[in-house]
Amino acid sequence: MLTLKQSCAATEERADQLIDFTSRIVASPSLSGEEGDVAAIIVAEMKKLGFDEVSTDEVGNIIAKINGDGGPTVMLNGHMDIVDPGPAEGWPYPAYSGKVVGDELWGRGSVDMKGPVAAMIFGAAQFKQLGIRPAGDVLMTVAVMEEIAGLGSQFLATHTSADVAIVGEPSRNELRLGHRGRIELQVKFSGRSAHASAPDLAINPHFAAAKFLQRLETLSLQNDSVLGPATIAPTLYVTDQQSANVIPSEVTIYLDWRNVPAESPEHAVKTLEALIEPSTDGSTAVVRVTEQPRTCYTGVTRDFASIFPPFATESSSPVAIAAEKVITESTGNPANADVWQFATDGGHLALSGIPCVGFGPGDDRLAHTNQERISISQLKTAAATYGPLVCELAKSIETT
Ligand SMILES: [Zn+2]
Repeated sequence: MLTLKQSCAATEERADQLIDFTSRIVASPSLSGEEGDVAAIIVAEMKKLGFDEVSTDEVGNIIAKINGDGGPTVMLNGHMDIVDPGPAEGWPYPAYSGKVVGDELWGRGSVDMKGPVAAMIFGAAQFKQLGIRPAGDVLMTVAVMEEIAGLGSQFLATHTSADVAIVGEPSRNELRLGHRGRIELQVKFSGRSAHASAPDLAINPHFAAAKFLQRLETLSLQNDSVLGPATIAPTLYVTDQQSANVIPSEVTIYLDWRNVPAESPEHAVKTLEALIEPSTDGSTAVVRVTEQPRTCYTGVTRDFASIFPPFATESSSPVAIAAEKVITESTGNPANADVWQFATDGGHLALSGIPCVGFGPGDDRLAHTNQERISISQLKTAAATYGPLVCELAKSIETT
């Protein structure tokens, strides 16, 4: 058992190394599909820190292990890809500087989520640093392509197993117990194109699309006891025409459905199909989940559906109670159990049956902005929390 006192001392001992490592990985650009360079830096650091096994899988995820004594396996999960920093103007320091200013470390990915990944790696490595054998194996996983629907963690979830997972996305060092999912769907209305001067020769798909949108506005969705109500929003509206004097033959509406666990992708498709009125003009409509081929930095290409599953862990569950206790003790603040507003890789893990809790340093409101920076004191507190959190979660699983 790794105590809080031990983990705090171990964190202080390696604080400079933690900050330096965080800064180096922030300085290595890693857009989704281009994570090879940062993966090499992370693998080298893990080996230096003494993980028992460090490997990468076929899509490029990093899986590192600290051997335990046969008890429950605890997974720590993060991702190494980032979103585009956008224009250089507006960033107070260059996006890939990794610069330390006072108590803050700046740069794209500092919050989402290279800082949290560094804290998890150093937290897990404390078992080695202190010569303490964990009850069960500790798996540190760093996934690829989280920002574009989670191909990496979906692969991880079906190729590795764990009894419980800690999702380290930024939570301001508070407890997070889930989030809604995201399903990207498209509804394609097909008719017949014609010169705009002769609409009677056309089957104009805009009218069927308009009727669909009107019915969509009145659709009522599920309400989840942990996550609250699901929502759906039409986003893009695309026709197959560039010219304003031609009636298109096709109109495609893109929809962003923030779903709760009771709403599967199949349910979403059926619900939208039911909103399409029987055709009176010969037009047709097809609903489908958006799917795109994605290529990983390892060269592997896979068709990937735009589905981020939701997850919801009851606050009365043993893992939530254990996490709340450790976080409160370690941070000295209430754990403020809540849900994330955004989707994470935890959904893929939960869908494969792994109970998840969320905890990570950094202010999630700064993620994906040009003001992205992480508090170093929060980073260190998180690094000191992960070891004890791993121990308590394993214990909570063992005793249930
Ligand atoms: Zn993230």
